[in-house]
Amino acid sequence: MVRCRTIIDRLSEYMDGEASSELRRTIENHLRHCRRCSAVYDSTRQMLVIVGDERTFEVPTGFSERLHRFIDQAIAPA
Ligand SMILES: [Zn+2]
Repeated sequence: MVRCRTIIDRLSEYMDGEASSELRRTIENHLRHCRRCSAVYDSTRQMLVIVGDERTFEVPTGFSERLHRFIDQAIAPA
């Protein structure tokens, strides 16, 4: 069983299209079964869409900090 932490750690690789086919399968399979991780995935993707729209767009101060805090909260043990 893959741990949520592992999935979250690899999400950026996955979203960048750099994950191996095995890793992609692992992540996609996990996302299908884990609501927490799929919520993190959706939110991260939405944020990246906003940020990635314009290449010269400057990432707001504290963006990655907020993202990491969000992820930490999302996968923190209940
Ligand atoms: Zn998970």
